Amino acid sequence: MSILKVARMGHPVLRECARPLEVDEISTPRIQRLIDDMFDTMHDSQGIGLAGPQVHESIRLFVAGVDGDEGTMPPVVIINPEITQVGSATEEDWEGCLSIPDIRGQVPRAADIRVQALDRYGKQLSMTANGYPARVIQHETDHLDGVLFFDRMKSFRSLTFLEEYSRYWSSRDE
Ligand code: ZN
Repeated sequence: MSILKVARMGHPVLRECARPLEVDEISTPRIQRLIDDMFDTMHDSQGIGLAGPQVHESIRLFVAGVDGDEGTMPPVVIINPEITQVGSATEEDWEGCLSIPDIRGQVPRAADIRVQALDRYGKQLSMTANGYPARVIQHETDHLDGVLFFDRMKSFRSLTFLEEYSRYWSSRDE
């Protein structure tokens, strides 16, 4: 396993629409190793989600896992996701991105979603998510369509460097 290089904003791969994975492809050593490396890379950089394009792989795959005050979602591998909003509630909350280091901004997202996808074994995965985990899934799915969180912001007034975020805006100690 190894730590992969993370593409930063400006790299064209982050603006491409990623291709779906074939079911047969998921079980290949290349993809299985990529998934393990993506978890290693995500944990190494203390991230809560990491999408294929962020590690220069333009495929519809991401890993995520949330364990904190905002909510909990066990580590998941999500491949070829289809997201549908449940209800009409939206929430605005802080997001960051490993491809946009040390910046935070407030982004509106659907509060409740349903996810249809494949897991790392190529099996159908169906789940619902609410609040922060739902936010992470929407953020990562956006990466598969070449969308960054700046694109979703209603205004740039909340844009904040991480140090100032921690000092003035974070409700918890980081
Ligand atoms: Zn991101």
